[in-house]
Amino acid sequence: MKYILQIFSGFWSTLRYRAEDIISRIDSLASGIEIDKVIIGWSTDASLYRQLGSWLHGKGIQMLLWLPIFSEVRAELQPDPARDVFGKAVAAPSTQEGETFHFVCPSSGRNAEIVKETYEQFFSGCGFDGVFLDRIRSQSFEAGISGIFSCACERCRRAFQEKGVNTADIRKLYEAQKDAFFDVASWPMDGEFLLENPLAQRYFEVREEIVADAVSDIAGYFKSKGLLVGMDLFAPVVSRLVGQRYPLITRYADFIKPMLYRRTEAPAGIGYEYALLEKNAPKARGKIRLAMDSAFLRTQLEAIRNIPCAKYPGIEINHDEKLVRTDPGYIRESLSAIREYGFEGATLCWDIMNVPEARYCSRDGRTKSK
Ligand SMILES: [Zn+2]
Repeated sequence: MKYILQIFSGFWSTLRYRAEDIISRIDSLASGIEIDKVIIGWSTDASLYRQLGSWLHGKGIQMLLWLPIFSEVRAELQPDPARDVFGKAVAAPSTQEGETFHFVCPSSGRNAEIVKETYEQFFSGCGFDGVFLDRIRSQSFEAGISGIFSCACERCRRAFQEKGVNTADIRKLYEAQKDAFFDVASWPMDGEFLLENPLAQRYFEVREEIVADAVSDIAGYFKSKGLLVGMDLFAPVVSRLVGQRYPLITRYADFIKPMLYRRTEAPAGIGYEYALLEKNAPKARGKIRLAMDSAFLRTQLEAIRNIPCAKYPGIEINHDEKLVRTDPGYIRESLSAIREYGFEGATLCWDIMNVPEARYCSRDGRTKSK
């Protein structure tokens, strides 16, 4: 099994580490495990990537740019914001270490241009072998009801209309039914849930189509430049909540990293995101219970088994006492389940610079307990 390492180099204008520090950390993790790619971003410091890239290439490791697409867009570029079906701007509800999770409109050609221009301006000459597209989604219940009912700006309203959904009807249906809008007929572990109300159901399906259309354009742009395209995706079971339908969106991917985060109490954490549905629609019927155990992990691996691109499920290995209470046993359990499935590899997320000690990983990709 091969490994992808993920490193957060800093926000656009900040830089957290020197190339030497990163190289030394990769070296300490690399003894005995086969590293395939390194995902790093999104500080705009070109010299970091030039230095790191030449070291990685000397070792036969690919370097991919970690690029957020529909959130964390540089505010000075004034991207077209996301709006909800109630006509309001979607709030940025929380920040994690400076990340805003403030989402912009996926249908906006201008927003897609910002992504492409950002790449050209800061990263095109840095030796990247590919891009890793993050935040290719709509907002979740993280921004409450407003988040789940976005984006429905003027452009998105038209896109919904062309696909047969009037967002004014969605608003009326929610206002009439409240929690019952989300009544569930079935919620399989691949996340393609069916709601009792056909219009409510169609809303979620079209939202996925709109996200996939936008991703097709952006991924196509990078592929036309000869770059590999990787994708950061919600775990299957919660993917429909953010407009990610695996069979659709993965058509444009060379590889995917489903975020199988069972210990993350922050956006994209599986239990965290599902609990937000409970919180925002407590009276909705038919909801399921998710146990964050290894049997559950296997349902998620099973759900991606037939997706026809390379699969490197992501496991969080960084540690934070409040947000990400990982431990070596958890990591060992997760990696061994992935190994059983025979996928191309696993991604060690989401910042190997924040792993407490390199002892988390050892020879053969197995983790030491202590
Ligand atoms: Zn929009």
